[in-house]
Amino acid sequence: MKQTLIPLLVIAAIVGGGILWWMNLRPVQVTVNGNLESVTIGTTVNQIVSDEGIQTTAGNYISVGGNVLAEGQGYPYSVTIDDQSMDYDSGSAYKVQGGEQLSITDGADRMEDYDSEVVEVAPKLTMDSDVGTINYISQWGYPTIKEVRTGKESGETADGEIYQQGQDCVISVRDVEPSDGRKLVALTFDDGPSEYTQQYLEILKEKGVKATFFCLGAKVEEYPDEAKAIVDAGCQICSHSYSHPDLRTSDQQTVLDQLTKSFSAIETATGAKTTTFRPPYGDFTQKTWLLTNGIATVAVRWNIDTEDWRQPGVDAIVSAATSSVKSGSIILMHDGGGDRSQDLEALPKIIDELQDEGYEFVTISELLQSDDSIPDDIANCDATMPDDAV
Ligand SMILES: [Zn+2]
Repeated sequence: MKQTLIPLLVIAAIVGGGILWWMNLRPVQVTVNGNLESVTIGTTVNQIVSDEGIQTTAGNYISVGGNVLAEGQGYPYSVTIDDQSMDYDSGSAYKVQGGEQLSITDGADRMEDYDSEVVEVAPKLTMDSDVGTINYISQWGYPTIKEVRTGKESGETADGEIYQQGQDCVISVRDVEPSDGRKLVALTFDDGPSEYTQQYLEILKEKGVKATFFCLGAKVEEYPDEAKAIVDAGCQICSHSYSHPDLRTSDQQTVLDQLTKSFSAIETATGAKTTTFRPPYGDFTQKTWLLTNGIATVAVRWNIDTEDWRQPGVDAIVSAATSSVKSGSIILMHDGGGDRSQDLEALPKIIDELQDEGYEFVTISELLQSDDSIPDDIANCDATMPDDAV
């Protein structure tokens, strides 16, 4: 036994030593910046850079905001292995196995340590024009969610990763321009419903035309049958606030209450959902839009004011309504707020005169639908804010 055991051990030692040498000490070839080099297997890139005396320029040590804190104090070199760029720590510590293509170039900048915080930035609200009869939400606002870094050395703050890119809320302001060349006009009646509403509806029915009623929530509650009759007649009902305050000078709770209560009074009385309204006194500013929290989507003004509330006489009302009409015009009249007998007399004359000129009477929703640039959900006048918008 002994005579055979000893040579076997010797062979085992030689083979074992060979395996160890093969695994740990064998020379291999790598390409370094285009030159073939022979190095011991497992040599780190850092050792190769040092042994080969590769000259590189170090990057700078920089703040989170990108300002140089110390020149040349960044990473000493950059490493690319087989076309894959490595971060400095793993690239420099990489142990070659043979056959790699190493590219050693100038060092990258090294950023200071920083504290990181995730913040949500609310969208801005912008209006794309100053003048126009229609204001509507053409783009909902979404928040941006991003990382904000505060440099431990510099104290600077700067944006880091963007986790969600938001967008601003945009209110488009414009006059309606019917796209198909039709001559369209919208009659609108404010401040009702009232004891006159049924008479207006009878005239409209007799003439075969539709109109839009901007009603006060409080009046809808007082005249629910008249409100329902507006919808039953195929006319459109929208909000004119609950009790006619000047929303430009109202606080947010008032704005929200005025819109919410009027929308729900209309829905309760008529079943019609709407998010469209006419601001009392006409103007709806950027500031007030901001206060609405997205519960209203369209604000409707007018471009023809009959000034009927002054009771200037039937002829004056007819003349004001008809003299400067063009396609897309929105005519302002009232069916609440006082004696409306002049309006009742003027209304049939206005309709006859404009029909003679080839005009077709439409609701606000139909008018908006006739303009291809206005989105369909907005033109339906009952759009609601998407869940994730703010
Ligand atoms: Zn009014």
